Amino acid sequence: MAVDQTPEVMSAGQFLKRLGAYLRPYWKESVCVVVLMAIDTAFALAFSLCFKYLIDNALPKHDLSLVTIMIVSLGFGWVLASVAAVGRDYLYSRLGTFVVNDVRLQIFNHLQKLSMNFFARSQVGDLMSRFTSDLDRLEDVIVETLPSGIWGLLSVVMSMCILLIFEWKMALLSLLSLPLCVIGPWILGNRAAKQTYAVQESTAAVSNTVQENLSAQPVVKAFGLQAALSARFAQQLKHLSVLASRANFMGNLTERTPSIGLSLFSVVAISAGALMAFHGYLTAGELVAMQGVLLGLSQSISDVADCYPQLVQAAAGMQRIDDILVEVPQISDLPTSGTMSRPSRQIEFRDVNFGYTDEKLNLIDVSLRIPVNTLNAFVGPSGSGKSTVLNLVTRFYDAGSGAVTIDEVDVRSVTQSSLRSHMSVVFQESFLFNTTVRENIRIGCPEATDAEVEDAARAAEMHEIILAMPQGYDTVAGERGSRFSGGQRQRIAIARALLRDPAILVLDEATSALDPVTEDQINETLLRLAKGRTVLSVTHRLSPVAKYDRIFVLKDGRVVEEGPHADLLQLGGVYAGLWNKQSGFTISKEGDHVDVTADRLHAIPILSKLDPGLLKELVSDFITDRIPHDRIVVQQGDPADKFYVIVRGQVSVSIREENGSERKLTTLQDGDYFGEIALLRSVPRTATVRTNGECIFLTLPREKFSKLLERAPEFRDLLSRDYPA
Ligand code: ADP
Repeated sequence: MAVDQTPEVMSAGQFLKRLGAYLRPYWKESVCVVVLMAIDTAFALAFSLCFKYLIDNALPKHDLSLVTIMIVSLGFGWVLASVAAVGRDYLYSRLGTFVVNDVRLQIFNHLQKLSMNFFARSQVGDLMSRFTSDLDRLEDVIVETLPSGIWGLLSVVMSMCILLIFEWKMALLSLLSLPLCVIGPWILGNRAAKQTYAVQESTAAVSNTVQENLSAQPVVKAFGLQAALSARFAQQLKHLSVLASRANFMGNLTERTPSIGLSLFSVVAISAGALMAFHGYLTAGELVAMQGVLLGLSQSISDVADCYPQLVQAAAGMQRIDDILVEVPQISDLPTSGTMSRPSRQIEFRDVNFGYTDEKLNLIDVSLRIPVNTLNAFVGPSGSGKSTVLNLVTRFYDAGSGAVTIDEVDVRSVTQSSLRSHMSVVFQESFLFNTTVRENIRIGCPEATDAEVEDAARAAEMHEIILAMPQGYDTVAGERGSRFSGGQRQRIAIARALLRDPAILVLDEATSALDPVTEDQINETLLRLAKGRTVLSVTHRLSPVAKYDRIFVLKDGRVVEEGPHADLLQLGGVYAGLWNKQSGFTISKEGDHVDVTADRLHAIPILSKLDPGLLKELVSDFITDRIPHDRIVVQQGDPADKFYVIVRGQVSVSIREENGSERKLTTLQDGDYFGEIALLRSVPRTATVRTNGECIFLTLPREKFSKLLERAPEFRDLLSRDYPA
């Protein structure tokens, strides 16, 4: 981001005001710090003053008792100043930690209140850097900059007082030096603040890229993005280094201008002092003592001036923290919000329109009615708006127009907590926290007893598995639940959901990342547990929803069909098309072999023109391929070796752009096929396909595909018409 485009950044003064507000709860400690600093500063000044009495009184008069008093006083002062220094170090170290933790907690609490739209548009690396580098700067200011600045200020005030008492002309002279010291920071400060903010934004972008790159390593390798990403990262670093070197120079300049002013002041002060002593206005002792005070004064002014660039940097960090704190939750409870009671009649969408952005509506004129205690599924092509329906019921987002009601109560008129207390959600990838299984389940209902946790696990058919583990319910799940298989993680998530005894059970592709055997088992468990609850399930796999009471078919954000499975099949519309695509395959119990009929092959558009006899022969040429989650099936640029039909699972198709970036084209699922283009045209793969969850494919090897083309030349001609080069 160019410096001129940076938003208004808070000034050092505004930052100090904010800091003051954070320090207010610790005012007693803060006052103690200032008092202890005053003791320390007084000792440093007393040191200089000693020279006056030593040179003017004690030495000429050989007054040993005066020397002794001075030595004892200095010794006593040293002890006092040392204790004060250690005490204040202790206090502001604590202050730094307390204040930074308060801010950390404030950001964290605020993030919990923000709505899903904020997280959808924010980047994790950027948010993390506000917790780390921006807060580190704040801590540095409290622990280092502020003490040094306050120490400097106290020292300036006390030195001035001493000069006024002992030599007022010197005091006036030193007052003249102040404008010299503040003029630079005054002129350059705002610009320096903006540049620092831009650097911090750019640093956050760099850490975002690193974080994204680390989690995207499989994609980076699969698409051969290393060189392109390194080049892009180098470009980003170049931008950062331009911004940082500009900001560093501006920071140094802001720091340098006071010291240039101060060295001029020192030259003038020494010259004036020497002339005054020469003309008898000052004694030798006063000259030495005053020069000591003046040198201390210039050092203190320099200390205060040095704080400025650091304050500017911390102000930029504080600004980035404020950017989060001023973010208003899109969805919040109102003082008038009521409490939602347990649903007893129906969930209803009335003429709902909704778009995540202003550019496009993702749900259009959706009206639907769901009686409680029924099983309901939302199906349709990928991106048709199925999950969006769930997002509005759970109030992760609010409808743009129209209303979502439960028992005729608008979900926007009740508190979010009362609404969600009647719901449990099981996602495709259930997040397990890195704590014990017991706690992972209990998160669903913190007040549940151990017995209730175990009952929920039993209902989710996980109890025995947990007991068989050496640590039982105290087994720690590992990062993201890595100690458990996908199916076990889903069962734990189901137990967690059940513990809340939800009236509404929301399943968002809850079983689609699982292997077929586990998927069937978990679907059975879910059906059993659904009794007495309203189930809203989004799924792309149709066989489990055949048993559901009602199926809503979405297409391009509209509900295009609705009814039970049999009615929808009879309708012969979108649902029937999806169903036909997914049926006709028989998967063996172990999931390692698929049988397909000639009729089913006939339903595949590119094979539909083949002679039935040829299709029958083809049945035995297909081979079953089972590929785990997150693997490359075909890679752009590789030679084509197979034609694929997805029997079960979901894949994403992407291409690599000329600039090296990856662009997602589409998602394919059960019944879809791919890989024919490269085989037909005898060219390398034109896209990369990777699995989103475990997939089972039927594949036709290249030789068989070529043989087919040879045996049915009319088929080749038809295809060349459909797939022109
Ligand atoms: P489905 O569940 O049917 O696959 P979704 O309901 O997740 O589809 O998404 C519907 C449409 O909304 C898609 O085009 C998707 O790209 C878009 N979409 C989903 N989430 C967001 C978001 N947070 N911001 C912008 N667009 C989104």
